[in-house]
Amino acid sequence: MATINDNYLKLKAGYLFPEIARRVNTFAEANPDAKVIRLGIGDVTEPLPEACRTAMIKAVEEMGVREGFKGYGPEQGYAWLRDAIAQNDFQSRGCNIDASEIFISDGSKCDNGNILDIFGNNNKIAVTDPVYPVYVDTNVMAGHTGDANEAGEYGGLVYLPVTAENNFTAQIPTEKVDLIYLCFPNNPTGATATKEHLQEWVKYAKANGAIIFFDAAYEAFISDPSLPHSIYEIEGARDCAIEFRSFSKNAGFTGTRCALTVVPKTLTGKAADGSDVELWKLWNRRQSTKFNGVSYIIQRGAEAVYSDAGKAQTKALVSFYMENAKIIRERLTAASIQVYGGVNAPYVWLKTPNNLSSWDFFDKLLNTVNVVGTPGSGFGAAGEGYFRISAFNSRENVEEAMRRITEKFKV
Ligand SMILES: *Cc1c(COP(=O)(O)O)cnc(C)c1O
Repeated sequence: MATINDNYLKLKAGYLFPEIARRVNTFAEANPDAKVIRLGIGDVTEPLPEACRTAMIKAVEEMGVREGFKGYGPEQGYAWLRDAIAQNDFQSRGCNIDASEIFISDGSKCDNGNILDIFGNNNKIAVTDPVYPVYVDTNVMAGHTGDANEAGEYGGLVYLPVTAENNFTAQIPTEKVDLIYLCFPNNPTGATATKEHLQEWVKYAKANGAIIFFDAAYEAFISDPSLPHSIYEIEGARDCAIEFRSFSKNAGFTGTRCALTVVPKTLTGKAADGSDVELWKLWNRRQSTKFNGVSYIIQRGAEAVYSDAGKAQTKALVSFYMENAKIIRERLTAASIQVYGGVNAPYVWLKTPNNLSSWDFFDKLLNTVNVVGTPGSGFGAAGEGYFRISAFNSRENVEEAMRRITEKFKV
């Protein structure tokens, strides 16, 4: 009889988004005329940049003739894309990252999960609370945790609460951990990290032989010039950090799929015999065995992000969403709601008025103004009393949702 991976049974069965969908459907059935506006899920809404589309169309045509046809590409990605990324995203910011240290993939979500393949099963793992659920669930699936308690916290994980009280920046742990997940700009809180804060983490990681998983999926949304876009802007990070990036949010590739992971050749982990092993070699081996590369067509589309036209168009796309974020921040503030984030990130994180629970506020927004957001408690116990509003939507929907909220909540 085939047995299963019992760790899957520990998962809180995708509680958050299905529960949101259930409540929205119930409401919609009872109120068929209500025009519900969804500012909940973190997916982009605006069309692909023209530069990317043009490059992809050209690549399709190339594939249609014998001389231009491509079969399997390099598992690590085409050299021209890795070069463009190394130059534009890293070297131009003074980060000493070589193209050979960049691995192209079909998504940051999968890389965030797959990276655990090359690490041992006895690492102590730290996550912030609230957190992007992928970091936690992939560790549960890999058997790195115990069961979840009532609040949804898994035994064996180290949770670092981030709330308004600590300005949404985690305290560096006093205990020793081996793997640390950081996401800046943050999903869901919209918080950012200063160079000084990241420097503290790098110092901690180096002192403890730990590895930082740095998720920079939202780096393009940073407008404050003092904030770091990459962890490799921090001295010493080449010795302790893996960085994840994606074309999903800056270039609208959530449905197109292209991302990258940086594994510096200077990074090592301990083998059972106590020797130091290069993580780059393990990740390269893992990708070569379990992955066959991203479509040539999609990689050409991603390369176009770095053309002059592509840079201008992705910048305009990001600015569009950030104008939405500004509108959300201003209108909620006018409705006497305390907001955080939304300045260097496309998420506004609000404190629920009158100390409502996250789900009570969800129900209130849905029922009174027909607007859907995401309850903060769904991202972790410390998210209770908070609520996420996404700036990924049309201007019309954002304006309308904020008009309704301002009218109902004005004091
Ligand atoms: C959207 C997002 C990503 C990107 O995921 P893809 O699989 O590349 O689309 C990564 N991390 C976080 C925190 C995100 O919100």
